[in-house]
This record gives sequence, C-alpha cells and structure tokens, in this order.
Amino acid sequence: MSKKKNTNKKDTKFIFITGGVVSSLGKGIASSALGALLQARGYKVRLRKLDPYINVDPGTMNPFQHGEVFVTNDGAETDLDLGHYERYTGVAAKKTDNVTTGRVYSDVIAKERRGDYLGATVQVIPHITDAIKDFVLSDIEDEDFILCEIGGTVGDIEGLPFLEAIRQLGNELGDERALFIHLTLVPHLGFAGEIKTKPTQHSVKELLSLGIQPQMVLCRCDEALPIEAREKIALFCNLDLKNVISAQNADTIYAVPLVLHENGFDTQVCDHFGLDTSKKPDLSTWKKISDGILKPKNGAVKIGVVGKYIAVPDAYKSITEALVHAGIPNKVEIEIVWIDADGFSEGQLQEVDGILVPGGFGERGVEGKITAIKYARENKVPYFGICFGMQMAVIEAARNLAGLENAGSTEFGVCDHPVVSLMTEWMHGDKVEHRKKNDDMGGTMRLGSYPCSLEKNSKVRKIYGEELVYERHRHRYEINFDYRTNLQVVGMEFTGLSPDGRLPEIVEIKDHPWFIGVQFHPEFQSKPFDPHPLFVSFIEASVKNRG
Ligand code: GLN
Repeated sequence: MSKKKNTNKKDTKFIFITGGVVSSLGKGIASSALGALLQARGYKVRLRKLDPYINVDPGTMNPFQHGEVFVTNDGAETDLDLGHYERYTGVAAKKTDNVTTGRVYSDVIAKERRGDYLGATVQVIPHITDAIKDFVLSDIEDEDFILCEIGGTVGDIEGLPFLEAIRQLGNELGDERALFIHLTLVPHLGFAGEIKTKPTQHSVKELLSLGIQPQMVLCRCDEALPIEAREKIALFCNLDLKNVISAQNADTIYAVPLVLHENGFDTQVCDHFGLDTSKKPDLSTWKKISDGILKPKNGAVKIGVVGKYIAVPDAYKSITEALVHAGIPNKVEIEIVWIDADGFSEGQLQEVDGILVPGGFGERGVEGKITAIKYARENKVPYFGICFGMQMAVIEAARNLAGLENAGSTEFGVCDHPVVSLMTEWMHGDKVEHRKKNDDMGGTMRLGSYPCSLEKNSKVRKIYGEELVYERHRHRYEINFDYRTNLQVVGMEFTGLSPDGRLPEIVEIKDHPWFIGVQFHPEFQSKPFDPHPLFVSFIEASVKNRG
C-alpha cells in the first residue's frame, strides 16, 4: 500500500466522513450520495473506506458478521460499502480504495522485519498513522475529490489510529483541501414526543477530544430536522447553522442524493472549499431512478432468493440492488422473497415468479438449493444461478438428468462424480495462477475481472449483445469439464467460456424459458443508471412467468 507513489495532483481535496452515536446510520450511502452530487456538479471523485477491524480484508469474515464481500475488478475482497460507491458514482473501485487495521499492521510489520525502519522503535504514532496517511494519499490521478469514509463509530478503540491520521492530514492539508463531516443520529423519542440533540453533542465532543472539529454535521433523523434542533446542534458544536444538515429518511436509497441536495449538502461542501455554487447540479438521472423505483407502472414481481444467510439481507446486498435496478427498465417493483435453503416448503417456491440461487460457501443448505433448482427446471420457472448457484445447477442436472448419482463438488469432500472441483492452475491474462487445497483461505480464490467469450447462438449472447464480456469472480471451485458431454447430451449447454476454452463460465438449459447459471458475480457491476443485462432479462422473464 505505502509502496505506491503519492501521485496526487496539488489541489485534490479530501473529505473525511466519520460516524457517531450508533452504527448502521448509512454512512456508506451518505458518502456515495455526496460523491454522486459532486459528480453532478462536474467534479471527478473517488471514494475510499478505512476499516478499523483487524482482518486483513473481509474475505474470511462470515457474512452473518459483516454482510457481503464486494470484489473489485483488480481482485480485492473489500467492504460492501465499496459496492455502494460504485453503484452511485459508476467509478470502478480498486484495491487501493479499502484498507483495514490488519492490512496496515501487516505492511508495517513486514517493513520492520525487512529492516526498513533502521533500528527505530516502531509505534502507532508515527508508523501506523503514517501508513494510514500514505494509503489516503496514494494512487490518486486527477481526481478533484477523494472521499474517505472511516468505518465504525467515533469512540471505538480500534478507530483511534485512523482518527489520529486524518487529524494530522487535516492540519497538513489545511481547510482549503480538507473537510471533516460527522454523521450522527438525532433520535425522535416517541414516548417523550421530542427530538434529542444530546447524543450528537456528545459525539462531536468525543471527536473534539481527539482534536477534530467537524465542519459539517449530517443528522440522521426520521423526519426533516426542525430549525430549533439544528440551531441547538450548531450552538453546541461550534457550527454555522447552514452546516447542520438534515438527513431524514428517504423512500428509496436512490433518492438520498435528491434529499441531501435539497437540504444544501453539496452546496455547503462546495462552499467550504470556496467553489462556485451558482450553477445547479443536474440531478435528472437520480430523479428518473427514484421515480422508476417508487412509481412502477407494471405492478410487482416476486423473486425467490434461496440462501443460507437470509436473516442478514446485507449478505446479499449487491444481488438485492441489482434486482432493484433491473426492475426500473421493466417498470416493476421487485419483491424479494427470502427462502431459507435450510428448510422451506414447495408452497414457498410456487409463490414466486423467478428463482435465484446466489453465491455461497460450504455444505449447509446445499440440498435445499438443489431442490429449489430442480423445481425451477421442471416447472419452467425462470432460474438465475450465481456462482455457487451455477455450481448447484450443474450438480442438479448431473444427478437428475445425466443420471450421475451422488454427483457433487469436492468442496464438500470426496464423491463419485466431482462435477464441480478445485482447479489448481489457470491463466489470468498472460500469467499462470496456482492454487492448492491447503492454501491460506484469505485472498487465494479466483478473484476479480476475467474475460468470458459467449457462444454464438446462445441466449446470453443475445442478452449481452456482445461476444466478449468481463465479469468479476470470487470462488475456489470450477465446473469440471470432464463431464461436459454427459451434461450436453441432456440439454445443458456451456454458452460462456474463458477465451482459452478451459473454464466453463456460463451454463444454459436449452429447453427452458430462462435457465442461466454464471460462474461469476454479475451483481457487482450493476448500477441503477446502468442495470446489468442478465438481471434485466431475468426480471423480464419472471414478469412473463407471472402471467
Ligand atoms: N463455494 C464456491 C467456490 O468457492 C462458490 C463461491 C461463490 O459462490 N462465490 O467455488
């Protein structure tokens, strides 16, 4: 991380976004919305996340703990907030946009072992804080703004080095190039009938005690904050009233840029940096997106998502968002029916118009997923299998169509017919990548963007309208091509392959209205203003199936 040269042009501006009072206030969405608003004013932005946890990356974390792992084109396993950044700004995130305490420490310790510190005592300040500052300033091209979101809540022990690092940066860059925004909660106490500003006052005090005076406070609240509450916060937190901004609930997360603009957020940010605010930003795209989501003309479509982390919808964040995006051109509301792979009834499957099995790891829930896929295949219900969902579709076809009893994946141990198995070697560009069964679990999968050639007369070729597509991967196992013929003769086609023809990337079932499995994660590239074609087509087929 700190090996990268600091290439930032002189006047790139840095916006640091911290959170206070409680977590889950939507700091990632507020940051992304600000990114979108600055873009609408003609500026070039990049968003970054500084995560205080000790994991080197979230790749090994249980989705129950942390939600989805978002994968970048360059193969980094990152925090799900990077997904929001991409969805709002369209700027493809990179490895250099997410750092954790674990990554910072492992880099600093590696340097210490190499002897790079020349006998010094290696300390949190300056060595760790310098590494954090290097990260913030590294790999910048001609961006006008770098927005840095600090994970966690002010007051967390783990966050201290990060706050110290941005405090120092604030001093070094000066007000002309740095801005601190603090997002807090302003609760409405139903039983007292009152809005409470005290938690915000305390949270700003906490930041002040660490040497950071936020120049703007963004207040999460149910309804727009009354002026008296804003005045009180302004008074206690040394702020101008205009810089206490209400961030009330929006009807859809894609209306947040509109709400925040209404409340003066981007105007105040530009004002802080002395930028011209006389021209209004063009927010027509965001207006169209939120109208499309909030006022669909063609009713609702029910999509059953069969997974094992359904109690934590954040575990499938990008899938949920990609489905919502696909609802816009189809003019339908997306109603997701979460189906627990560990136990569901056929009635639950009968209720939905389309079935999706998302990515997953491990054996639990596998038989349920296979049952759902069999149901979709036999009853001609549109089926979309993503990564694990494709692997399970291949196992289902192998067992129930090709008669390969006990077909399975080597992910779950030895079986008679390993139709899904560990690939030990593959090409990435002109590089050979290797993987062994006992490799470290972190960062050793097929990760990031890979090309995929689409078969001429296939459904996917028609859907994409292109011969070669690039999609993001995150998996250890692959479809075992030794079984290609067994599957082809029963109607499972391999319609997407790696350009060298060695890795099966897409399967389709011919005699079915819409049955597609993909080894990659198309959901990572879907945007509300550019919904992913596979999701759009899947929703279209599900709408047709609704009758
Ligand atoms: N567990 C499977 C593998 O590693 C699928 C992973 C996924 O769905 N992302 O290949």
